[in-house]
Amino acid sequence: MPTYSHSRLSTFEQCPKKYWFGYIEKVEVEQGTSIEAFMGSLVHEALEKLYKDLQFLKSCTVQEIVDFYNGRWEKEYDPDAVYIVRTEYKEENYRRMGERFIRDYYARHQPFTQAKTIGLETQWMAPIDDAGEYQMHIRIDRLALDGETFEIHDYKTSNTLPTQDKADTDRQLALYAYGLKRKFPWAKRIRLIWHYLAFDKDIESERSDEQLELLKAEIMRVIRQVESTTEFEPRQSPLCNWCEFQRLCPLWKHKFATDALPPEEFRKEDGVKLVNEFARLKEQERDVAIKIEEATQRLVAFAKQQGIQNVFGSGRRAAIRTYPKLSFPKKEDPRRAEFFRTMKVVGLWDQLAVPDVYELAKMLNEGQVHDDVKRLLEPFIEKGTTTRIYINSY
Ligand code: SF4
Repeated sequence: MPTYSHSRLSTFEQCPKKYWFGYIEKVEVEQGTSIEAFMGSLVHEALEKLYKDLQFLKSCTVQEIVDFYNGRWEKEYDPDAVYIVRTEYKEENYRRMGERFIRDYYARHQPFTQAKTIGLETQWMAPIDDAGEYQMHIRIDRLALDGETFEIHDYKTSNTLPTQDKADTDRQLALYAYGLKRKFPWAKRIRLIWHYLAFDKDIESERSDEQLELLKAEIMRVIRQVESTTEFEPRQSPLCNWCEFQRLCPLWKHKFATDALPPEEFRKEDGVKLVNEFARLKEQERDVAIKIEEATQRLVAFAKQQGIQNVFGSGRRAAIRTYPKLSFPKKEDPRRAEFFRTMKVVGLWDQLAVPDVYELAKMLNEGQVHDDVKRLLEPFIEKGTTTRIYINSY
């Protein structure tokens, strides 16, 4: 039975290649853990301890929870296994950040009696489609109950605070609400509560039954997209720096290989030489294009000033001709719709309109065309590849 999770689907959406490394090839890497993830998991452990002890009627002081966190840090922190991407900050900065998160959370929420905790780091599988063919992995940091209202609590240690709109359309906790509703159909309300610990701020949202049904359809759409993908292309983003497969990724592999070379060998490496040569030629091409444009303008001005249309050089002739130019409303022009209607009324539409096949190809490549439509178009598609080189700094 295929099993998915929010993080699995998000990985696919973030980068299909990362998905391929992690979920299809199941590549094992020894890169370790980012310090953000390390700190985040210890803060989660500390808050889990806080609520677990409360379930056993043991009330911890904030210092006890902080001592637990620092003790875990001391025991688990291994500089060879935990890496720091933002090198301007040190291990101590991150440890202290986590400590502050705990202190702020404790001060804001004590005495922790707002609702009854019924689950910590709770996990189960929920069927997502009607046939029960697909299961979603549900994992809730803290599940609480207040009368017939459930609360799904999620701790966030990231340094970005989302807008209310983002919370209202967030998929992760909404998915957990869906799973909860399947498990406890009598639940009257489910509150989704994010604790943004870096900002000492709680954000709340809820979903109606209709919204949860739409979510189910959206999740099935992503699952179908995952299952019909055959080419898992890398998608570059700022998150690449935190990707455990970066050294293996076709976008970055060569950088890691050449970074390791001494300067002398680096300059002689075949790929380095090819890129440098290509970039130099492209720069020349740009310079030549600018020079051609300037020469065109000078030649046109010369012909105009002389009152001639042919200018003769050494065995060559430049013919300068001027034609009438007609333009029609462009995409962003509000008159465009009226222009199209007029074309149809006067009978020119069928004669002149052609589909935007570049846009169609893009839609097909990005999976925006329904499978049934795709099947109908299939006999007309000629498949091939095209290769382009983009030069940019890194
Ligand atoms: S390094 Fe970036 S592009 Fe490559 S697999 Fe990871 S996330 Fe994708």
